[in-house]
Amino acid sequence: MPSLLYDVAILGAGPAGATLARLLGGKMRVLLVDRRPLDRDPAPGQPIKSCGGLVAPDAQQAIAQFGLGLPDSVLVGPQLFAVRTIDLPSRQERFYQRFYINVDRERLDRWLAGLATHAEPRFGCVARGVERIETGADAHYAIHLRQDGRDIVEHARLVVGADGAESLVRRLLAPQGPAPRRYAAIQRWFEARDPQPFFSALFDPAVTDFYAWCIPKGDRLLVGAALPPGRDAHARFDRLLAELPAFGYDLSHPASPGRPEGCSLLRPLSPHDVRLGQAAPHESGVLRAHDDGGEGGLALVGEAAGFVSPSSAEGFSYAYRSALALSRALAPGLDGWLPRYRAATADLRANLAGKRLKTPVMYQPALRRLALRSGLKSLEIHEDC
Ligand SMILES: Cc1cc2nc3c(=O)[nH]c(=O)nc-3n(C[C@H](O)[C@H](O)[C@H](O)COP(=O)(O)OP(=O)(O)OC[C@H]3O[C@@H](n4cnc5c(N)ncnc54)[C@H](O)[C@@H]3O)c2cc1C
Repeated sequence: MPSLLYDVAILGAGPAGATLARLLGGKMRVLLVDRRPLDRDPAPGQPIKSCGGLVAPDAQQAIAQFGLGLPDSVLVGPQLFAVRTIDLPSRQERFYQRFYINVDRERLDRWLAGLATHAEPRFGCVARGVERIETGADAHYAIHLRQDGRDIVEHARLVVGADGAESLVRRLLAPQGPAPRRYAAIQRWFEARDPQPFFSALFDPAVTDFYAWCIPKGDRLLVGAALPPGRDAHARFDRLLAELPAFGYDLSHPASPGRPEGCSLLRPLSPHDVRLGQAAPHESGVLRAHDDGGEGGLALVGEAAGFVSPSSAEGFSYAYRSALALSRALAPGLDGWLPRYRAATADLRANLAGKRLKTPVMYQPALRRLALRSGLKSLEIHEDC
């Protein structure tokens, strides 16, 4: 047996992992790993999480239910009360009232990670592999990490993949299984010369079958898109950038960092895309693909589990709520955690089903244009104010 065996090792300290670590509190021995240096400000060239940084009402509600509020240090202006929705090819547009909190994503994650005071942090540390170790009744997992050029091995009974869209743990669990559709999210910063105080949601089937966005943040404007992955993703993004000046977005002054940033984004379009984990013991190094009970195992939370809105890509609320569900499932102990986690996420999975129902209205061009033309629930912006 290793000299130190954690009850839970959480790989990824984004919103899901940091929240789970905080909620598990001092009740379990918890290791919290992230490749980002979440204990200090990011230096140029260090990994960051590419994100729009908008906290939507569902996420605001989850934060309120945690008994938390967002500190000043994570906020960035302007706060946004409307979405400008544009169907680029038809040039139809409408404004809709929505309430977002505009945040600096890296600062948000550092604040959340800082609340997980009972967990043992390993930041600036990459998880490279997870291996099942069979030692009679005391089977557990060895987690292979690399930090500052050194290889480290830690041990835990339960390994939680909170490691986002490219989850190592999900790949281990279900290498061939159903997986959410994967998009290439590309974002680029511009100086905000004449910022529009709206979240803009932009639709153009020639660019993507999902959507693109503009978000003002301080003295910069963030332009992003979720694009079908492939060689032409950057060409599609350039096409979007070329279209935007005609709609009043001044992209003539790129801002730091000058180059586009990117990462994967999952879009769970089928109920089978959600994967919660595996509690079954298995032979050394070989994972068995069934979900029966047992102690410890491999669990997934947040986007790694497939919890992210297929209609808007909103992911914070799902990250917080799936972390809460897993922490509750683990409260009685590690034995039988998976059925409890499945029960605790029933409402989240129903919520995703609701978002899937809504998706055709937003993403079929004819239906979207009909909705825009109707003006239903839209907001008038007064020209004379
Ligand atoms: C471009 C873009 C814009 C978005 N905008 C919004 C938005 O405005 N509002 C919103 O609600 N949602 C948004 N989302 C979705 C949201 O970002 C995610 O759903 C949410 O961050 C998921 O949280 P998570 O904790 O599950 O995973 P992540 O936030 O992805 O966190 C995963 C963590 O794991 C770490 N990690 C990954 N692999 C390893 C490894 N091998 N070793 C160590 N650490 C590792 C990463 O560094 C990261 O910190 C956006 C997504 C994208 C791609």
